[in-house]
Amino acid sequence: MAEKDYYKILGVDKGVDKDVLKKAYKKLALKYHPDRVPEDKKEEYEEKFKEISEAYTILGDDKKREQYDNFGDSAFGQGGPGFGGFRSSGGFSGFGGENMSDMFRDLFESHFGGGSFRGEQNTRSGEDLQYELIIDFEEAVFGCEKEVEIRKNILCEECEGTGAKDKKLEKCDNCKGKGRVAVNRRTPFGIFRQVTICDKCHGEGEAPIQKCKHCNGKGIVNDKVKIKIKIPQGIDNNQIIRVEGKGNAVKNGENGNLFIVIKVKPHKTFKRDGDDIYVDFQITFSQAALGCKVSVPTLDGTKKIKIAPGTESGTVIRLKEEGVENVNHYRAGDLFINLKLKTPKKITKKQEKLFKELSKLE
Ligand SMILES: [Zn+2]
Ligand SMILES: [Zn+2]
Repeated sequence: MAEKDYYKILGVDKGVDKDVLKKAYKKLALKYHPDRVPEDKKEEYEEKFKEISEAYTILGDDKKREQYDNFGDSAFGQGGPGFGGFRSSGGFSGFGGENMSDMFRDLFESHFGGGSFRGEQNTRSGEDLQYELIIDFEEAVFGCEKEVEIRKNILCEECEGTGAKDKKLEKCDNCKGKGRVAVNRRTPFGIFRQVTICDKCHGEGEAPIQKCKHCNGKGIVNDKVKIKIKIPQGIDNNQIIRVEGKGNAVKNGENGNLFIVIKVKPHKTFKRDGDDIYVDFQITFSQAALGCKVSVPTLDGTKKIKIAPGTESGTVIRLKEEGVENVNHYRAGDLFINLKLKTPKKITKKQEKLFKELSKLE
């Protein structure tokens, strides 16, 4: 799958500021707006309008734009590449999202205490986690499978996350199963009746008859967990793999996601720039002067190449599509061989004689 260039779609440069971006979007959105579609171009316009909207959804949002700038739309979601990999469920997602939504819940509880919040709890989700994984150059180039061990919140196995011994729950007596309790609060403006989440059952309306000893009734424990990760071929330094549902678990809610930040170790021979690979290769004076055939290192072995007579130091030979094959791109990168003349440090008597003769000729 090719990467989508959202900047190109909106016809702006990468560093462009918000206002320019907005203007560019408005102009295009007006042009391709469904209300203005010529009959014969319906599909084309629709497609274009969708593309523009998608681009602006990402770039118009500071946070999403930053993610996109850093990782492109090739966030390498484990279900397949694509920007869909990132959670985009609005304001309460992303790192530390749970705290935000808790805050919101508290706010909501105190201002709109009468409302029902039971349904809302199903949308609770655990925090996303980040893990930095260092891999070898070759592992990045060819892809691999890795196992990482991380410490995270998981459902207690003993009580299957119920927090109750023998998984037995009863209606919470503190809130009568409502999950909320009303308290009177004294303020300078008088006494207010405020509804808050029940302390005893944490808003669940049910409480363990006896607490599970393993998790102390929380239903959640913090433990080390091994997770297998597929590293796609062609991944590059600082790219991120999203592993769905492997973040922190939360009671009665969805797991967060795990984001694996890839760090690639440098290679002794090869240097990488995107999908292109660069390598320095030394040749002797006589090889450069006379021309020759040499074996140069490639990503999967060696390749014989011809050096033309009279080649200068610093000449670069390009081997097409001998670079990185990236699962996200249509064509492989290239391999660039940078030829360098090797000046001999030590020479034999015979070589010295020959060089002297040569210098006389020169
Ligand atoms: Zn309760
Ligand atoms: Zn337990």
